[in-house]
Amino acid sequence: MDDVFTGSFTQQEPLPPAAIAAAVAVMQSGRLHRYNVVEGEAGETALLEQEFAAYVGRPYCLAVASGGYALGCALRALNVLAGEKVLTNAFTLAPVPGAISAIGAVPVFVESTENLTIDLDHLDRQITDTGARVLMLSHMRGHQPDMARLMAITDRHAVQVIEDCAHTMGGGWGGQPSGIHGVISCYSTQTYKHINSGEGGLLVCDDPDIAARSVLLSGSYMLFERHLAAPQVAEFAPHVGMTPNVSGRMDNLRAAVLRPQLATLDAQVERWAALHDTVEAILAGTPGLALIERDPQAVRVGSSFQFRLPELSGARVESFVQSCALRGVALKWFGAPQATGYTSRYDHWAYANSPVLHQTDKVLAGLIDMRLPLTFSTDDCALIARIIRSEILRIFANAA
Ligand SMILES: *Cc1c(COP(=O)(O)O)cnc(C)c1O
Repeated sequence: MDDVFTGSFTQQEPLPPAAIAAAVAVMQSGRLHRYNVVEGEAGETALLEQEFAAYVGRPYCLAVASGGYALGCALRALNVLAGEKVLTNAFTLAPVPGAISAIGAVPVFVESTENLTIDLDHLDRQITDTGARVLMLSHMRGHQPDMARLMAITDRHAVQVIEDCAHTMGGGWGGQPSGIHGVISCYSTQTYKHINSGEGGLLVCDDPDIAARSVLLSGSYMLFERHLAAPQVAEFAPHVGMTPNVSGRMDNLRAAVLRPQLATLDAQVERWAALHDTVEAILAGTPGLALIERDPQAVRVGSSFQFRLPELSGARVESFVQSCALRGVALKWFGAPQATGYTSRYDHWAYANSPVLHQTDKVLAGLIDMRLPLTFSTDDCALIARIIRSEILRIFANAA
């Protein structure tokens, strides 16, 4: 009998007791709205912003309703206009081009490399060809390009970078936390990311003007002086009345469950590394399977695992995914012609009207993706990896 895995790829850990206790306290107070505080009380949302700003090492932080909202807020804060072209990765998740389109701007995709990072040569050409002044850089599935080279290119063209750190929260680059490069960096606290409030987002930046505009955009009314990681009140003056309210605040209940999770994020990242390393060690050297290489400067959060099967036809990849599913291993294939589940590709977003990107198509045609929730043990991961390896060996044996 073949081994079968019986765990769930979508089951997260329960929230820690401290998060549950903090949530109960907020509910007992009845003061769930971030600005509903009593004399002397900062409120959970303002405290979360202060703690996350310190975590990333940037002066300003705003907590919002979702990661997608943070991306849209960033575009608005940079005054991106309707009809303007905004560059982004061809390999990303739907909320990224969605945020660009939602403000009437036009997503223009940049090719992906085999290592699932933005192709920097294509980026350079796309900037010249489009005249775009903003890049929404998505660290999709935690894969980061050479950030020094990327910033050299964008600086040379005076392109502003919004960093989408939904999959790198808790990870890093060159010894620093992920999210220090973008003029604005955005994070998600949605259940499938690295800290879990169901829905939620965070945005960080260094520029007081951009920070003030972001706070006003999120729907602060005239209560911005209650923030702890926002600029001085005087910085708001030029923007009050000139900045529309696009309500998308975080509430105290979500912030309350996030603060204890932020405190243990680094320890969770270590646990994810153990899961990821276990899978990687077993899959290394499997014939026909290409692992994704990463720059030694990158600290990866191993909350998911990707590999490529560059030699197999679509039909064989599909049958490989099916045989793994029969053994309890849920894999996603990015080469599928139709969007399924969370899996999607640039050409599924027909509204963006993208030309065909041959290099990205080639990469995605053999790309497999799997979640590694922290409810898995390293033994679970070893079993999963052995199942994948044996199914690949079987496919190649049958082909011979
Ligand atoms: C989840 C995600 C987002 C946005 O997150 P939401 O909180 O779901 O809006 C943005 N980018 C990437 C790559 C994501 O995976």
